[in-house]
Amino acid sequence: MDVAIVTVGDELLAGRTTNTNATWLCERLVDRGVAVERITTVPDRIGEIARVVNEYRAEYDSVIVTGGVGPTHDDVTMDGVAAALGRDLEEHPAALAWIVEEGGYAREDLTDGTADLPAGARPLHNGVGVAPGAALEGVYVLPGVPAEMRGMFETIESEFTGQKRFREVVVADEPESALLERLEALRTEFDVSVGSYPGNSVRVSIESTDEATVEAAAAWLRERVDSSGRGT
Ligand code: ATP
Ligand code: MG
Repeated sequence: MDVAIVTVGDELLAGRTTNTNATWLCERLVDRGVAVERITTVPDRIGEIARVVNEYRAEYDSVIVTGGVGPTHDDVTMDGVAAALGRDLEEHPAALAWIVEEGGYAREDLTDGTADLPAGARPLHNGVGVAPGAALEGVYVLPGVPAEMRGMFETIESEFTGQKRFREVVVADEPESALLERLEALRTEFDVSVGSYPGNSVRVSIESTDEATVEAAAAWLRERVDSSGRGT
């Protein structure tokens, strides 16, 4: 299963908010064996949201959108997703009832539009805040507030499945450029994907769906690199 993540918010693009939602979602999805193929951040504009959601839902099994589902003027994510799916936005009576009955909010305190979802969507209940999320045609809309996003994701997590991948990291205290031939040989020798991440040391990440292959590849590389710790 592959997924694209769309994070919505002008404040993300201005660097005022760090996109921890995307990082958290990637971690959880990858743990479940799901491949995350895109993270895209778009401004709080209906057209921009609609354009990427439309493109990504054609390309990937699922699209997770976070942010901009509250009641303020800049919360236009549901409009954007509805436009992408060619649906109207309409009040979802069951979502509204849930907010009142389970959420404990008085109906008269709720802003108009609080429970507006794309027509035909399945509402996702918000156990932490007010605004509901929505699921429709492989598109999942979650709130932007991290605690709300996390709580809601956990209610749909089981819908994201894939083949578990195994990973080992080999630390090499050598310049990355010195490792090139050995990394090439590693990839020839074993059916694994290899990532090389330089810092003080080089962290070589070795991944595969087969645990024994990863272990053998990591052992092979460990025998051939300097891991004395001098570079750390
Ligand atoms: P609300 O109902 O509170 O308006 P919302 O779903 O509309 O929630 P946003 O208005 O997009 O969410 O964001 C609310 C707050 O959540 C932001 O001010 C920011 O602090 C945080 N937030 C939003 N998106 C992200 C993100 N991608 N990563 C981390 N924090 C985020
Ligand atoms: Mg908001």
